[in-house]
Amino acid sequence: MEIIERISEIFSETFGEAPIHIARAPGRVNLLGEHVDYNDGFVLPAAIDRATYIAFSPSNSDQTTLLAVDLNQQASFSPQTIPSKTQIDSSPLPDWAHYPAGVMWALLEEKLSTPAMNSVYASDVPRGSGLSSSASVEMAFMIAWQTLDSWALPPMRLALLAQKAENQYVGVNCGIMDQFASACGVENHLLLLDCRSLEWKTIPLPEDVAIVIADTTVRRKLTSGEYNKRRAACEEAVRLLQQNLPNIKSLRDVSVEDFNWLAGKLPDEVSKRARHAVEEIERTNQAEALLEAGNIQHFGELMNECHISLRDLYEVSCPELDVMVRIAQSLEGCYGGRLTGAGFGGCIVNLVAHEKAEEFAQSLAKGYQSETGYHPEIYITRASKGAELLA
Ligand code: ADP
Ligand code: MG
Repeated sequence: MEIIERISEIFSETFGEAPIHIARAPGRVNLLGEHVDYNDGFVLPAAIDRATYIAFSPSNSDQTTLLAVDLNQQASFSPQTIPSKTQIDSSPLPDWAHYPAGVMWALLEEKLSTPAMNSVYASDVPRGSGLSSSASVEMAFMIAWQTLDSWALPPMRLALLAQKAENQYVGVNCGIMDQFASACGVENHLLLLDCRSLEWKTIPLPEDVAIVIADTTVRRKLTSGEYNKRRAACEEAVRLLQQNLPNIKSLRDVSVEDFNWLAGKLPDEVSKRARHAVEEIERTNQAEALLEAGNIQHFGELMNECHISLRDLYEVSCPELDVMVRIAQSLEGCYGGRLTGAGFGGCIVNLVAHEKAEEFAQSLAKGYQSETGYHPEIYITRASKGAELLA
Protein backbone atom coordinates (compact mmCIF):
# COMPACT_ATOMS: atom_id res chain seq x y z
CA MET A 1 0.00 0.00 0.00
CA GLU A 2 1.65 3.12 -1.32
CA ILE A 3 0.29 5.67 1.17
CA ILE A 4 1.34 3.57 4.16
CA GLU A 5 4.88 3.26 2.82
CA ARG A 6 4.99 6.97 2.19
CA ILE A 7 3.84 8.05 5.66
CA SER A 8 6.10 5.45 7.31
CA GLU A 9 9.10 6.76 5.41
CA ILE A 10 8.32 10.39 6.21
CA PHE A 11 7.76 9.43 9.84
CA SER A 12 11.20 7.80 10.03
CA GLU A 13 12.86 10.80 8.37
CA THR A 14 11.09 13.24 10.68
CA PHE A 15 11.30 11.46 14.02
CA GLY A 16 14.41 9.30 13.55
CA GLU A 17 12.71 5.94 14.03
CA ALA A 18 10.01 3.85 12.39
CA PRO A 19 6.40 4.40 13.53
CA ILE A 20 4.99 1.85 15.96
CA HIS A 21 1.39 1.98 14.72
CA ILE A 22 -0.62 2.55 11.56
CA ALA A 23 -4.35 3.28 11.50
CA ARG A 24 -6.81 4.03 8.73
CA ALA A 25 -10.22 5.69 8.64
CA PRO A 26 -12.33 5.86 5.47
CA GLY A 27 -14.40 8.54 3.77
CA ARG A 28 -18.04 7.85 3.01
CA VAL A 29 -20.76 8.24 0.43
CA ASN A 30 -24.52 8.38 1.02
CA LEU A 31 -26.66 6.22 -1.28
CA LEU A 32 -30.10 7.34 -0.11
CA GLY A 33 -31.67 9.54 2.56
CA GLU A 34 -30.47 13.02 1.60
CA HIS A 35 -31.30 16.07 3.71
CA VAL A 36 -33.31 13.94 6.11
CA ASP A 37 -30.81 13.55 8.97
CA TYR A 38 -32.12 16.73 10.57
CA ASN A 39 -35.69 15.51 10.11
CA ASP A 40 -35.01 12.44 12.27
CA GLY A 41 -34.99 10.29 9.13
CA PHE A 42 -32.88 7.40 7.88
CA VAL A 43 -29.64 7.60 5.92
CA LEU A 44 -27.97 4.86 3.93
CA PRO A 45 -24.24 5.55 3.62
CA ALA A 46 -21.26 3.28 3.04
CA ALA A 47 -17.66 3.75 4.07
CA ILE A 48 -15.59 3.82 0.86
CA ASP A 49 -12.22 2.29 0.06
CA ARG A 50 -10.48 5.65 0.24
CA ALA A 51 -9.14 6.64 3.61
CA THR A 52 -6.87 8.73 5.78
CA TYR A 53 -3.83 6.77 7.00
CA ILE A 54 -1.87 7.77 10.07
CA ALA A 55 1.54 6.54 11.27
CA PHE A 56 2.08 7.25 14.96
CA SER A 57 4.11 6.51 18.07
CA PRO A 58 3.91 7.76 21.65
CA SER A 59 6.17 10.77 22.23
CA ASN A 60 8.51 11.22 25.18
CA SER A 61 7.78 14.92 25.37
CA ASP A 62 4.39 16.25 26.49
CA GLN A 63 3.54 17.67 23.08
CA THR A 64 1.68 16.05 20.21
CA THR A 65 3.26 16.74 16.84
CA LEU A 66 1.50 16.15 13.54
CA LEU A 67 2.70 16.29 10.02
CA ALA A 68 0.02 16.54 7.33
CA VAL A 69 1.80 15.15 4.27
CA ASP A 70 -0.85 16.23 1.76
CA LEU A 71 -0.56 19.84 2.93
CA ASN A 72 3.15 19.65 3.70
CA GLN A 73 2.50 21.30 7.05
CA GLN A 74 3.30 20.57 10.67
CA ALA A 75 1.67 21.55 13.97
CA SER A 76 2.27 20.88 17.68
CA PHE A 77 -0.12 21.19 20.60
CA SER A 78 -0.82 19.77 24.03
CA PRO A 79 -3.84 19.55 26.37
CA GLN A 80 -2.72 22.91 27.83
CA THR A 81 -2.82 24.72 24.47
CA ILE A 82 -6.10 23.15 23.30
CA PRO A 83 -8.54 25.67 24.88
CA SER A 84 -6.78 28.66 23.28
CA LYS A 85 -6.48 26.93 19.86
CA THR A 86 -2.77 27.67 19.82
CA GLN A 87 0.39 25.69 19.22
CA ILE A 88 3.23 24.97 21.62
CA ASP A 89 5.02 28.13 20.39
CA SER A 90 1.82 30.15 21.08
CA SER A 91 1.10 30.77 17.39
CA PRO A 92 -2.52 30.09 16.32
CA LEU A 93 -3.39 26.54 15.27
CA PRO A 94 -3.82 26.44 11.48
CA ASP A 95 -7.34 25.55 10.26
CA TRP A 96 -6.43 22.05 9.12
CA ALA A 97 -5.07 21.22 12.59
CA HIS A 98 -8.42 22.07 14.20
CA TYR A 99 -9.70 18.62 13.14
CA PRO A 100 -7.12 16.54 15.07
CA ALA A 101 -6.92 19.12 17.88
CA GLY A 102 -10.73 19.01 18.09
CA VAL A 103 -10.52 15.26 18.62
CA MET A 104 -8.13 15.84 21.53
CA TRP A 105 -10.51 18.51 22.89
CA ALA A 106 -13.54 16.17 22.68
CA LEU A 107 -11.65 13.35 24.41
CA LEU A 108 -10.46 15.68 27.18
CA GLU A 109 -14.06 16.85 27.67
CA GLU A 110 -14.88 13.19 28.37
CA LYS A 111 -12.02 13.03 30.89
CA LEU A 112 -10.20 10.58 28.64
CA SER A 113 -6.47 10.93 28.31
CA THR A 114 -4.78 11.82 25.04
CA PRO A 115 -1.17 10.71 25.32
CA ALA A 116 1.37 12.85 23.51
CA MET A 117 2.28 11.37 20.13
CA ASN A 118 4.26 11.93 17.00
CA SER A 119 2.20 11.38 13.88
CA VAL A 120 2.30 11.63 10.12
CA TYR A 121 -0.87 11.34 8.05
CA ALA A 122 -2.03 11.38 4.45
CA SER A 123 -5.26 10.56 2.64
CA ASP A 124 -6.68 9.53 -0.70
CA VAL A 125 -10.10 10.92 0.19
CA PRO A 126 -10.40 14.08 -1.94
CA ARG A 127 -10.69 17.16 0.27
CA GLY A 128 -13.85 19.20 0.16
CA SER A 129 -15.66 16.99 -2.40
CA GLY A 130 -18.37 15.84 -0.02
CA LEU A 131 -16.79 12.43 0.64
CA SER A 132 -16.02 13.40 4.22
CA SER A 133 -12.28 13.76 4.27
CA SER A 134 -12.82 15.69 7.52
CA ALA A 135 -14.53 12.79 9.30
CA SER A 136 -11.85 10.40 8.05
CA VAL A 137 -9.13 12.61 9.58
CA GLU A 138 -11.05 12.83 12.87
CA MET A 139 -11.64 9.10 13.08
CA ALA A 140 -8.00 8.32 12.28
CA PHE A 141 -6.95 10.42 15.28
CA MET A 142 -9.66 8.83 17.45
CA ILE A 143 -8.16 5.42 16.72
CA ALA A 144 -4.64 6.73 17.36
CA TRP A 145 -5.40 8.13 20.81
CA GLN A 146 -7.48 5.10 21.71
CA THR A 147 -4.54 2.89 20.77
CA LEU A 148 -2.07 4.85 22.89
CA ASP A 149 -4.15 4.71 26.04
CA SER A 150 -6.08 2.10 27.94
CA TRP A 151 -9.60 3.34 27.25
CA ALA A 152 -11.72 1.81 24.49
CA LEU A 153 -15.11 3.03 23.33
CA PRO A 154 -17.63 1.49 20.92
CA PRO A 155 -17.31 2.89 17.37
CA MET A 156 -20.59 4.83 17.63
CA ARG A 157 -19.31 6.60 20.76
CA LEU A 158 -16.09 7.51 18.95
CA ALA A 159 -18.19 8.83 16.07
CA LEU A 160 -20.31 10.98 18.39
CA LEU A 161 -17.18 12.46 19.96
CA ALA A 162 -15.69 13.17 16.53
CA GLN A 163 -18.94 14.86 15.52
CA LYS A 164 -18.77 16.94 18.71
CA ALA A 165 -15.20 17.92 17.76
CA GLU A 166 -16.32 19.06 14.31
CA ASN A 167 -19.44 20.86 15.63
CA GLN A 168 -17.91 22.59 18.61
CA TYR A 169 -14.14 22.85 18.07
CA VAL A 170 -13.91 23.18 14.29
CA GLY A 171 -17.28 24.94 14.15
CA VAL A 172 -18.97 23.00 11.33
CA ASN A 173 -22.61 22.09 11.88
CA CYS A 174 -22.53 18.51 10.49
CA GLY A 175 -24.87 15.67 11.43
CA ILE A 176 -23.70 12.28 12.70
CA MET A 177 -23.70 10.43 9.36
CA ASP A 178 -20.13 11.21 8.27
CA GLN A 179 -18.35 10.13 11.44
CA PHE A 180 -20.76 7.22 11.91
CA ALA A 181 -20.02 5.79 8.46
CA SER A 182 -16.27 6.25 8.85
CA ALA A 183 -16.38 4.57 12.27
CA CYS A 184 -18.82 1.74 11.59
CA GLY A 185 -18.28 0.80 7.93
CA VAL A 186 -18.53 -2.87 6.97
CA GLU A 187 -17.00 -4.34 3.83
CA ASN A 188 -19.49 -4.80 0.98
CA HIS A 189 -22.34 -3.47 3.10
CA LEU A 190 -24.45 -0.36 3.21
CA LEU A 191 -25.26 1.06 6.63
CA LEU A 192 -28.85 1.96 7.46
CA LEU A 193 -28.85 4.50 10.28
CA ASP A 194 -31.90 5.76 12.15
CA CYS A 195 -30.91 9.35 12.86
CA ARG A 196 -33.42 9.56 15.73
CA SER A 197 -32.46 6.50 17.80
CA LEU A 198 -28.95 6.05 16.33
CA GLU A 199 -29.81 2.37 15.89
CA TRP A 200 -28.27 0.97 12.76
CA LYS A 201 -27.95 -2.19 10.73
CA THR A 202 -25.91 -3.39 7.81
CA ILE A 203 -27.37 -4.43 4.46
CA PRO A 204 -25.27 -6.40 1.98
CA LEU A 205 -24.50 -4.87 -1.39
CA PRO A 206 -24.02 -7.58 -4.01
CA GLU A 207 -20.37 -7.97 -4.98
CA ASP A 208 -21.12 -7.54 -8.67
CA VAL A 209 -22.32 -3.98 -8.01
CA ALA A 210 -19.83 -1.10 -7.91
CA ILE A 211 -20.33 2.26 -6.27
CA VAL A 212 -19.16 4.86 -8.78
CA ILE A 213 -18.71 8.40 -7.54
CA ALA A 214 -18.19 11.24 -9.99
CA ASP A 215 -17.17 14.74 -9.02
CA THR A 216 -18.63 17.55 -11.15
CA THR A 217 -15.68 19.66 -9.88
CA VAL A 218 -18.20 22.46 -9.51
CA ARG A 219 -18.38 23.99 -6.04
CA ARG A 220 -21.25 26.32 -5.44
CA LYS A 221 -21.07 26.20 -1.69
CA LEU A 222 -24.42 25.50 -0.16
CA THR A 223 -24.04 28.70 1.75
CA SER A 224 -25.03 28.09 5.32
CA GLY A 225 -27.87 30.52 4.60
CA GLU A 226 -29.47 28.22 2.02
CA TYR A 227 -28.98 25.20 4.27
CA ASN A 228 -30.51 26.97 7.25
CA LYS A 229 -33.48 28.14 5.17
CA ARG A 230 -34.26 24.53 4.26
CA ARG A 231 -33.95 23.39 7.84
CA ALA A 232 -36.25 26.22 8.90
CA ALA A 233 -38.81 25.27 6.22
CA CYS A 234 -38.92 21.71 7.56
CA GLU A 235 -39.39 22.99 11.10
CA GLU A 236 -42.18 25.31 9.99
CA ALA A 237 -43.89 22.41 8.23
CA VAL A 238 -43.84 20.44 11.48
CA ARG A 239 -45.33 23.38 13.39
CA LEU A 240 -48.14 23.81 10.86
CA LEU A 241 -48.86 20.11 10.51
CA GLN A 242 -49.09 19.77 14.29
CA GLN A 243 -52.43 21.59 14.13
CA ASN A 244 -53.88 18.41 12.60
CA LEU A 245 -51.27 15.91 13.77
CA PRO A 246 -50.55 16.98 17.36
CA ASN A 247 -48.29 14.02 18.10
CA ILE A 248 -45.64 14.57 15.43
CA LYS A 249 -42.21 15.77 16.55
CA SER A 250 -40.53 15.89 13.16
CA LEU A 251 -41.27 15.11 9.50
CA ARG A 252 -40.17 11.57 10.28
CA ASP A 253 -43.53 11.12 12.00
CA VAL A 254 -45.62 12.16 8.98
CA SER A 255 -46.79 9.47 6.56
CA VAL A 256 -46.98 10.20 2.85
CA GLU A 257 -50.74 9.71 3.08
CA ASP A 258 -51.19 12.26 5.86
CA PHE A 259 -48.88 14.64 4.06
CA ASN A 260 -50.89 14.44 0.85
CA TRP A 261 -54.03 15.15 2.85
CA LEU A 262 -52.57 18.22 4.57
CA ALA A 263 -50.03 19.61 2.10
CA GLY A 264 -52.53 22.20 0.80
CA LYS A 265 -52.42 23.97 4.17
CA LEU A 266 -48.73 24.71 3.82
CA PRO A 267 -47.18 27.66 1.98
CA ASP A 268 -45.86 26.56 -1.42
CA GLU A 269 -42.18 26.53 -0.65
CA VAL A 270 -42.59 24.91 2.76
CA SER A 271 -44.76 22.25 1.17
CA LYS A 272 -42.12 21.42 -1.46
CA ARG A 273 -39.31 21.15 1.08
CA ALA A 274 -41.39 19.03 3.44
CA ARG A 275 -42.63 16.78 0.64
CA HIS A 276 -39.04 15.95 -0.23
CA ALA A 277 -38.29 14.97 3.37
CA VAL A 278 -41.47 12.91 3.86
CA GLU A 279 -41.11 11.06 0.55
CA GLU A 280 -37.36 10.58 0.94
CA ILE A 281 -37.86 8.98 4.34
CA GLU A 282 -40.48 6.73 2.76
CA ARG A 283 -37.95 5.79 0.04
CA THR A 284 -35.40 4.77 2.66
CA ASN A 285 -38.09 2.62 4.29
CA GLN A 286 -38.74 0.86 0.98
CA ALA A 287 -35.01 0.54 0.32
CA GLU A 288 -34.40 -1.79 3.20
CA ALA A 289 -36.60 -4.60 1.87
CA LEU A 290 -35.43 -4.09 -1.72
CA LEU A 291 -31.78 -4.33 -0.77
CA GLU A 292 -32.38 -7.29 1.52
CA ALA A 293 -33.96 -9.01 -1.49
CA GLY A 294 -31.02 -8.03 -3.71
CA ASN A 295 -33.30 -5.95 -5.92
CA ILE A 296 -30.71 -3.40 -7.03
CA GLN A 297 -32.75 -2.51 -10.11
CA HIS A 298 -35.62 -1.17 -8.06
CA PHE A 299 -33.31 0.39 -5.47
CA GLY A 300 -31.61 2.26 -8.32
CA GLU A 301 -34.98 3.67 -9.34
CA LEU A 302 -35.35 5.07 -5.82
CA MET A 303 -31.98 6.79 -6.26
CA ASN A 304 -33.22 8.31 -9.52
CA GLU A 305 -36.41 9.50 -7.81
CA CYS A 306 -34.31 10.98 -5.04
CA HIS A 307 -32.41 13.08 -7.57
CA ILE A 308 -35.61 14.45 -9.10
CA SER A 309 -36.86 15.31 -5.65
CA LEU A 310 -33.63 17.08 -4.66
CA ARG A 311 -33.75 18.97 -7.95
CA ASP A 312 -37.41 19.98 -8.10
CA LEU A 313 -38.66 19.96 -4.50
CA TYR A 314 -35.65 20.60 -2.30
CA GLU A 315 -33.95 22.66 -5.02
CA VAL A 316 -30.36 21.87 -4.10
CA SER A 317 -29.13 20.67 -7.52
CA CYS A 318 -27.36 22.71 -10.19
CA PRO A 319 -27.08 22.39 -14.00
CA GLU A 320 -23.79 20.47 -13.88
CA LEU A 321 -25.16 17.90 -11.43
CA ASP A 322 -28.28 17.49 -13.57
CA VAL A 323 -26.25 17.01 -16.76
CA MET A 324 -24.00 14.47 -15.09
CA VAL A 325 -26.89 12.51 -13.59
CA ARG A 326 -28.74 12.46 -16.92
CA ILE A 327 -25.70 11.06 -18.73
CA ALA A 328 -24.98 8.54 -15.97
CA GLN A 329 -28.53 7.21 -15.92
CA SER A 330 -28.48 6.70 -19.70
CA LEU A 331 -25.37 4.52 -19.65
CA GLU A 332 -25.36 0.76 -19.83
CA GLY A 333 -24.98 -1.03 -16.52
CA CYS A 334 -26.20 1.91 -14.42
CA TYR A 335 -28.88 0.96 -11.90
CA GLY A 336 -29.36 4.47 -10.59
CA GLY A 337 -27.64 7.75 -9.92
CA ARG A 338 -28.20 10.97 -8.06
CA LEU A 339 -26.46 13.92 -6.52
CA THR A 340 -25.03 13.06 -3.13
CA GLY A 341 -24.21 15.32 -0.22
CA ALA A 342 -25.56 18.76 0.48
CA GLY A 343 -25.86 19.71 -3.22
CA PHE A 344 -25.10 22.82 -5.30
CA GLY A 345 -22.14 21.04 -6.88
CA GLY A 346 -19.92 18.28 -5.59
CA CYS A 347 -20.45 14.62 -6.45
CA ILE A 348 -23.00 12.24 -7.87
CA VAL A 349 -23.18 8.62 -6.74
CA ASN A 350 -24.20 5.67 -8.95
CA LEU A 351 -24.67 1.97 -8.59
CA VAL A 352 -23.23 0.24 -11.64
CA ALA A 353 -22.81 -3.38 -12.69
CA HIS A 354 -19.23 -4.19 -11.77
CA GLU A 355 -18.27 -5.49 -15.21
CA LYS A 356 -19.48 -2.24 -16.79
CA ALA A 357 -17.92 0.13 -14.26
CA GLU A 358 -14.77 1.03 -16.23
CA GLU A 359 -16.70 1.65 -19.43
CA PHE A 360 -19.31 3.62 -17.49
CA ALA A 361 -16.62 5.83 -15.95
CA GLN A 362 -15.03 6.54 -19.33
CA SER A 363 -18.28 7.32 -21.10
CA LEU A 364 -19.47 9.50 -18.23
CA ALA A 365 -16.23 11.47 -18.19
CA LYS A 366 -16.35 11.96 -21.94
CA GLY A 367 -20.01 12.91 -22.08
CA TYR A 368 -19.80 15.29 -19.14
CA GLN A 369 -16.69 16.97 -20.45
CA SER A 370 -18.10 17.51 -23.89
CA GLU A 371 -21.32 19.04 -22.52
CA THR A 372 -19.84 21.22 -19.78
CA GLY A 373 -16.15 21.64 -20.52
CA TYR A 374 -15.27 20.41 -17.02
CA HIS A 375 -13.01 17.45 -16.46
CA PRO A 376 -14.64 15.23 -13.81
CA GLU A 377 -12.90 13.06 -11.24
CA ILE A 378 -14.37 9.57 -11.16
CA TYR A 379 -13.86 7.03 -8.38
CA ILE A 380 -14.87 3.41 -8.76
CA THR A 381 -15.20 2.33 -5.18
CA ARG A 382 -16.77 -0.27 -2.93
CA ALA A 383 -18.12 -0.41 0.58
CA SER A 384 -15.25 -0.85 2.98
CA LYS A 385 -14.44 -1.49 6.61
CA GLY A 386 -14.66 1.36 9.11
CA ALA A 387 -11.82 2.98 11.05
CA GLU A 388 -9.27 0.46 12.31
CA LEU A 389 -5.82 -0.06 13.69
CA LEU A 390 -3.74 -1.81 11.03
CA ALA A 391 -0.54 -2.32 12.97
P1 ADP B 1 -15.10 17.07 3.18
O1 ADP B 1 -16.39 17.04 2.44
O2 ADP B 1 -13.99 16.47 2.38
O3 ADP B 1 -15.22 16.51 4.57
P2 ADP B 1 -14.64 19.48 4.65
O4 ADP B 1 -14.59 20.91 4.25
O5 ADP B 1 -15.65 19.05 5.65
O6 ADP B 1 -14.75 18.62 3.32
O7 ADP B 1 -13.21 19.06 5.26
C1 ADP B 1 -12.04 19.35 4.56
C2 ADP B 1 -10.98 19.79 5.54
O8 ADP B 1 -10.53 18.67 6.35
C3 ADP B 1 -9.72 20.28 4.85
O9 ADP B 1 -9.81 21.65 4.52
C4 ADP B 1 -8.65 20.03 5.92
O10 ADP B 1 -8.65 21.05 6.89
C5 ADP B 1 -9.14 18.75 6.57
N1 ADP B 1 -8.50 17.61 5.86
C6 ADP B 1 -9.10 16.75 5.03
N2 ADP B 1 -8.20 15.88 4.50
C7 ADP B 1 -7.00 16.21 5.00
C8 ADP B 1 -5.69 15.71 4.82
N3 ADP B 1 -5.43 14.69 3.99
N4 ADP B 1 -4.69 16.29 5.51
C9 ADP B 1 -4.94 17.33 6.34
N5 ADP B 1 -6.16 17.85 6.54
C10 ADP B 1 -7.20 17.32 5.89
MG1 MG C 1 -16.57 17.21 6.06
